[in-house]
Amino acid sequence: MGSDLSFYGKGCPRGKVDESKFLVPTLHFRFMKRALEKELTSYFNEKFNISKNEIRKALYKADEVQVAFEKRLVDYGKEVMKSIPENCRPVVLLGKPYNSSDPHLNLALIEKLINQNVMPIPLDMLDTSDNNIFTSYRNMYWPNGQKIIAGAQLVAKTDGLYAVYVSNFRCGPDSFIHHYVTEELKGKPFLHLEIDEHSADAGMVTRIEAFLDSLKGAEQNEKKEHEIFRPRPSPASPPKERVLYFPYMNDGAYLLAAAARACGIPSEVLPMQTDEDIAIGRKYTSSKECFPMICTTGSFIKKLQEPGADPSKMCFFMPDHNGPCRFGQYNQFHRILFDKLGYKNAELITPSNDTSYEDVAGEHGQKFRINAWKGFIAADYLRKIYRETRPYEINKGDSDKLYWESYEKLERCIEKGSKGLTKLLEKIASDFLAIKVDKSVRKPVVAIIGEIFMRDNAGCNGNIANRLEDLGVEVVIGPFSEWIYYSTYRFTRDSKWKNDRKGVLKSKIQGVGQDVIAYSLLRNIKKFTDHEKDVSLHDMLRFCNTYVNKYYDGDPPIAMGTSVALYDRGVSGLAAILPFTCMPGTLVASVSDTYRKDHENIPFINIAYDGQDSVSLDTRLQAFVFQVKEYTRSKKHIRSEKTEKSVKTVNAEKTEKVLQKVE
Ligand code: SF4
Repeated sequence: MGSDLSFYGKGCPRGKVDESKFLVPTLHFRFMKRALEKELTSYFNEKFNISKNEIRKALYKADEVQVAFEKRLVDYGKEVMKSIPENCRPVVLLGKPYNSSDPHLNLALIEKLINQNVMPIPLDMLDTSDNNIFTSYRNMYWPNGQKIIAGAQLVAKTDGLYAVYVSNFRCGPDSFIHHYVTEELKGKPFLHLEIDEHSADAGMVTRIEAFLDSLKGAEQNEKKEHEIFRPRPSPASPPKERVLYFPYMNDGAYLLAAAARACGIPSEVLPMQTDEDIAIGRKYTSSKECFPMICTTGSFIKKLQEPGADPSKMCFFMPDHNGPCRFGQYNQFHRILFDKLGYKNAELITPSNDTSYEDVAGEHGQKFRINAWKGFIAADYLRKIYRETRPYEINKGDSDKLYWESYEKLERCIEKGSKGLTKLLEKIASDFLAIKVDKSVRKPVVAIIGEIFMRDNAGCNGNIANRLEDLGVEVVIGPFSEWIYYSTYRFTRDSKWKNDRKGVLKSKIQGVGQDVIAYSLLRNIKKFTDHEKDVSLHDMLRFCNTYVNKYYDGDPPIAMGTSVALYDRGVSGLAAILPFTCMPGTLVASVSDTYRKDHENIPFINIAYDGQDSVSLDTRLQAFVFQVKEYTRSKKHIRSEKTEKSVKTVNAEKTEKVLQKVE
């Protein structure tokens, strides 16, 4: 994956430099032969007209040189280790080399350690070839994470060798790796330095001195055995006779649980997160991890701590993910935490995005997938028509009432294998169209985009959608189904890169199946919603490239592609939700200003949320909505009364037809 930095770097100086001079290829080092080679050869062939063969040769030559260089570093490290003076302590610098070896970023740590008679050993010079971390950390997809854990394991088993862990404020991967390192180094003190632009020399020297003192103390103490908690494998589908608990992430979760029940798996959705869940989550995390991880940890532990709870009858849904963002670490961390807290019998169910989660229901995989997909389509439609009605209802509460009544009906229908779902959706659509509304003037429309767990989760996003509506706008929220479309697309793409023909075929069939189901469920009712604002995955991946390459894996291509697509589809503002410290969210935030400038300064707000609501968020939302209204006025995005009226008339006729059909 290309580094985020290249996208920040390209976007920031927009208009001030000649951007064609930037070289920003997106490269997938994980797939050397089938991805990296092609990406490099096509990019440089096109840019510099160098033959593909020459580029290929250069690539393999560079790989050879790099491998030889890394070997030389390790050999040199071995020499150094043999010749360390007696009064000098060897200390391994755990961390990413671009931090731990850069005197500006680590505040000259190397010199400071040497001045204290410490021999710093860069991680790259450590021979960790005997440590196979994948026996436990099978999903450690960050190469630096692999090295850090291997380094920690080596330090743990080598007498007289210690470690300093160098990190940065808000480093996403380190928020998880630090937990693993703490476990691996149990019983051996290590110094953790988290450096940012406010860190000062004096404070750092004091901490190094304190660390060295603590080593003297530790060496005098008797050695004790410590239980080390590491991730361990979890099943992809629930074992029999356990209840499967889904964490709440949006109302669609109720239909997901119903789809599981349709396959004979007893399933429930945990309640929408409250302050209590978040407080429990914070108690068992460092609070530096992703906010959704803190929220789901809180939900799980709260359930496990309920009086009478029997962990051996419980399992918790937390999908696997192959990176690059932190999502794939959630279930690894949860496993460690459950074990540490004594919930060894509680299972985690971890279907993989590698196969677009098809393995969750075991033998019923196909049935579950189809049913769940129908549920997502239904949930997205219901939410859309609800959000298009609620701001205009004449009798306050009509839409909310109907929304929840509809959910109950949908749940029952999906639970019975989705029989009659098309008709039910048509009835729901007609019920919504029958709600008394005043749509004589359409309110400005704001699109809520961003992180998938939070953007439609009122308990974890500060109830943003309702707050925006209360300020006088209509909101359209990115549908959940887009994530499944995207997972299927990645399943196809990665299968191609792995040369897995079966995977390609399976994913293609999956994709076609998804399209057919969505079309057949919505063909009669799509027209009752503002479907102009539905953005296809194809468009997202086509439009995102000015800001983020479509091969960047995760939310950013979806968020930026949607933003570009919606710009001329009557949207007057964009609200991007990002969990505080979210890696992909930070990327979206950093390129959003360039996007705004490229699109006539369309209002764009980035809401970095961490569960701490504040008055300043209210003020920011008010200012944002003010801008949205001004923008709408200047762009005349509000449909004229005449157009609205004719739309209403057409809708009324169509409602009549739907009612007749349903009856
Ligand atoms: S998208 Fe952000 S919040 Fe979500 S898992 Fe990735 S890094 Fe964490």
